[in-house]
Amino acid sequence: MTYHRRPEIKVAPPGPLAQKIIAQDQQYASPSYIKEYPLVVSHAHEMWVHDVDGNCYMDLMAGIAVASTGHCHPQVVESIRQASEKLLHICGTDFYYESFSSLCERLANLLPGMGSQKVFLTNSGTEAVDGVIKLARHHTKRAYLIAFKGAFHGRTYGAISLNASKTVQKSFFGPLLPGVIHVPYACNPFEVIEQDLFIHQVAPQEVAAIIVEPILGEGGYVIPPTSFLQDLRTICDKYGILLIFDEIQSGIGRTGHMLAASYFGVMPDAFLIAKGLGSGLPIGAIVARTEVMTWPRGSHGSTFGGNPVACAAALKTLDIVQSLLPQIQEVGALFLQGLRALKKKHSVIADVRGVGLMIGCEFLHPLTKQPLKQYVSNLEQQAFRHGLLLLSCGQSTIRFAPPLVMIKEEVDVALEILDLCLTQLRVE
Ligand code: PLP
Repeated sequence: MTYHRRPEIKVAPPGPLAQKIIAQDQQYASPSYIKEYPLVVSHAHEMWVHDVDGNCYMDLMAGIAVASTGHCHPQVVESIRQASEKLLHICGTDFYYESFSSLCERLANLLPGMGSQKVFLTNSGTEAVDGVIKLARHHTKRAYLIAFKGAFHGRTYGAISLNASKTVQKSFFGPLLPGVIHVPYACNPFEVIEQDLFIHQVAPQEVAAIIVEPILGEGGYVIPPTSFLQDLRTICDKYGILLIFDEIQSGIGRTGHMLAASYFGVMPDAFLIAKGLGSGLPIGAIVARTEVMTWPRGSHGSTFGGNPVACAAALKTLDIVQSLLPQIQEVGALFLQGLRALKKKHSVIADVRGVGLMIGCEFLHPLTKQPLKQYVSNLEQQAFRHGLLLLSCGQSTIRFAPPLVMIKEEVDVALEILDLCLTQLRVE
């Protein structure tokens, strides 16, 4: 059977209906929103996003790695419908309901290598990050946290204190949380942390946790060598420091494994998930070893965290993603291969890297090797005009984080349009 599905641009975006909504947004919505390009969505299914003017786009970013099962997966929608007819809210912090406890059980078993685990449910990634900072300090009775240059952990105060991705996310918001020390990502942890930081800046006995994205997300889709995470594990074991993986972007099947921790074979003491967990419904989690999750009754809570409808979406999402894992590995490998072929043709592509459907394509000037920020922005706009939804990260990298239901025929279509855009664009 031939595959016919392609993006379809009928009206140059933003069309007249889109323009009306954008004008309204610009008048009333906060100016802090980024709004990458003028995409005004009406509805979306699987890999396909439709705008209000009748254009259809192929989604290669899944609403920043969130629409894991594809947009509006019928089984997820049905679970949401059934759950919403039964119960919209009762507050999981104070009372019990089945989907809450079932989801905790499910998440506590995603990484059996960590041993017995307990779960705290949140509404978002950043809430999980702030929560785990509290947990780490409370459990260890230590104050310091080690984070990484290039890291992105969210937008609340704890999270922005850990961030070192873009200064705009921190500028004029200070003072931030004290006690956060940043070291280079994918460094040699023995040289940088043990033999330098612990001697000159902070005693290891004062460090509560090392918080790391096992694959750098917003910071540029950087895949560290396995030894980086293994060495962090060794240091944490030696000094009684907690190793915390922020899997908010890399988790829930994105790498072709339920968690990047399984891909690397390195077990943290706690990990954080959100984004793809609810296929679009707001839900996240702190999952920690039972011996670590020692905060007492009443010390932490959340009114909406683990909302029954979001729990139902998450339980169904986990079933679907589990069954997709082999396909994600296969399709991801084809996507990587195709991008590597494009690299041979277009000298602006400096690097192609990825695991599963978490793929980065970095653009540098062919002669100066400087990041091509404007070029990448132009590429996003050009791809949008051709019906491909892209998103950048780092200085000048395009991140490919499509819905995990992507099939190989869709990879071919994506590569063909990308090739066209790269051929049309000039390096200045
Ligand atoms: N951590 C990582 C690795 C992320 O990529 C993000 C969001 O992009 C967050 C945390 C914050 O998640 P949220 O936007 O749900 O608060």
